[in-house]
Amino acid sequence: MLNFLNKREKCFCAFCKNPRSIYTRKHIDIVSLVLILVVGLSFGYLHSSSPGILEVVFMSTMVIFGEVLFQLRWRVSIICKYCGFDPIIYKRDPNLAASKVKVRLEERKEDADAILGPPIILPRQSMSSKKGVLISRQV
Ligand SMILES: [Zn+2]
Repeated sequence: MLNFLNKREKCFCAFCKNPRSIYTRKHIDIVSLVLILVVGLSFGYLHSSSPGILEVVFMSTMVIFGEVLFQLRWRVSIICKYCGFDPIIYKRDPNLAASKVKVRLEERKEDADAILGPPIILPRQSMSSKKGVLISRQV
């Protein structure tokens, strides 16, 4: 019924390349504000015949609570559930993001349910294109 509130976008993890879906809305939108206004006004008419300061406080609290919930939902959906890669942390500190992925992969090794899950395609470290130096020719 309220699918427009749960708009998701399919994408791939930047680290393990598994398909997943993330929430696209980071902040509360105008539709949610209107819904909160309707709920607040109906609460006000249930409480008394005209909306007063209590309903305004209630609607303001609901807007703040909704914004926090939208941001938490978006933030949790950004983190890959397979490998634990967090692109937000990666932008700030790549070493911290790498350590979190290592911890998640260690936990995954011991998890029996992860064996039946999709495989993680880890990026390969390629050898540098620089060839070795022949020491015998330098003498
Ligand atoms: Zn991943």
